[in-house]
Amino acid sequence: MTDLTTDLTPETLPMAFAQLQLAAPLARAVAEMGYESMTPIQAQAIPVVLQGHDVMGAAQTGTGKTAAFALPLLQRLLKHESASTSPARHPVRALVLLPTRELADQVAQAIKSYAKYTQLRSAVVFGGMDMKPQTIELKKGVEILVATPGRLLDHIEAKNAVLNQVEYVVLDEADRMLDIGFLPDLQRILSYLPKQRTTLLFSATFSPEIKRLAGSYLQDPITIEVARSNATASTVEQHFYSVGDDDKRHALHQILKQRGMKQAFVFVNSKLGCARLARSLEREGLKTTALHGDKSQDERLKALDSFKKGEVDLLVCTDVAARGLDIKDVPAVFNFDVPFNAEDYIHRIGRTGRAGAAGLAVTFVSKSDVRLVGEIEKLTKTKIDIEAIEFEEDVPDIRKQGRINDGRRMYAEGAQDDSRHNQHRAGGMRDVAHEGQFARQDRAPRRDFTRPTPASRDPFFDKPYEAAPETASAPSWEASTAVRGAARSISANIKPKRRVAALFKAIEA
Ligand code: AMP
Repeated sequence: MTDLTTDLTPETLPMAFAQLQLAAPLARAVAEMGYESMTPIQAQAIPVVLQGHDVMGAAQTGTGKTAAFALPLLQRLLKHESASTSPARHPVRALVLLPTRELADQVAQAIKSYAKYTQLRSAVVFGGMDMKPQTIELKKGVEILVATPGRLLDHIEAKNAVLNQVEYVVLDEADRMLDIGFLPDLQRILSYLPKQRTTLLFSATFSPEIKRLAGSYLQDPITIEVARSNATASTVEQHFYSVGDDDKRHALHQILKQRGMKQAFVFVNSKLGCARLARSLEREGLKTTALHGDKSQDERLKALDSFKKGEVDLLVCTDVAARGLDIKDVPAVFNFDVPFNAEDYIHRIGRTGRAGAAGLAVTFVSKSDVRLVGEIEKLTKTKIDIEAIEFEEDVPDIRKQGRINDGRRMYAEGAQDDSRHNQHRAGGMRDVAHEGQFARQDRAPRRDFTRPTPASRDPFFDKPYEAAPETASAPSWEASTAVRGAARSISANIKPKRRVAALFKAIEA
């Protein structure tokens, strides 16, 4: 086995996989996956892990972090390869812990691909599944075990998993594990492992809790922080919610209220939809203006001016109308419709989270939109979780209105249940996640959508957006009769924040 260069100055960091001198079976798998250059996290982490250092890595999903820990870990485990069928010859040597079963599944699949030409065995265990097949696999012996903490403890207690020969442990998405409340489980699991081991911790942020965790379980870790490849995306908290078309306005009201948002952009795909939505929201008590290609320059200027002054809470717009706008630091962007063109997603969410400010981007995904979400995944090279949304009982008034003038059904009785469960019925989606998270498994072929022509720019639109003066009245949804009751925190069904990072190149905001 060949160890890599130990010189970690930026000039000498290996950038091409060919420079790594990976063992032939791993190099073959990597080549087959089409990887040529290493991503920044890989270039920094692989040599360090190969040398056996503990690592504290700030990297998000989508940066290539799985290969960053899996490849060196596999390379170091090659010395344990065994063709024997005896389970005793295949003890668990590496443990990878993740917060959700969807992530565990994803990482396990990646590890299987990287290890496919080796004799190293890997398995994944997570909750919500029958323990039996997992037990059979564990009993046969696996060198690399990928797991969610709760289910792993079940297997430890059932004596299906013995961890006294673990040499490597990876705490992946550690911040999410702490958010979910897995700290006690992690502490218990770590107490079963040998003290002499390599520990790798990856987290999107180094919060004080993460630092405390690292302080307790890592030894002289090397800190690796990859430069954010997309400053906009990395500061934008992104959510994709499964919402039926009839429940989207209800969801919008609820999120605005829960987050105490003052202003937001709401994107739709058509001019007609734009005007109609603006009218409906206005009727429901939100100060709303529509901005679409049919509006005159004068009307657009007025709409924007009102928004900048804080006289308008919501600007409902189409991509064409928004192209020329350079409004900065809008607290939130809602994709009422998933954009037809994935690049428009990047443009839309680039309206929020600018200059390092925190932003929120919420996308409502109806059944027919799942394919378009696949296009966004491809562009951002990030797996997207489509989350369930739970409607609160105290946001009923919109739903009681029954029908509105345009004849479309609004939040009629029973719609809540439809929406809550519609991801179970959605074609092409398979439930692989934990507690209401859903991940698409199948991808439909790309459809050819014509890109809209960018609107011409004018200097007004280039003026930075300034937040509405502090004296401005409270956002209308606070006073709205449509949304009553004290603001509540996000429901338990809504997952903690999730951030998306582009893999290599910066994505233009
Ligand atoms: P991860 O952040 O590990 O979830 O990886 C995100 C995506 O990037 C996955 O689809 C990987 O297969 C892919 N990927 C990881 N490393 C590379 C690389 N060096 N070159 C090309 N694609 C990569």
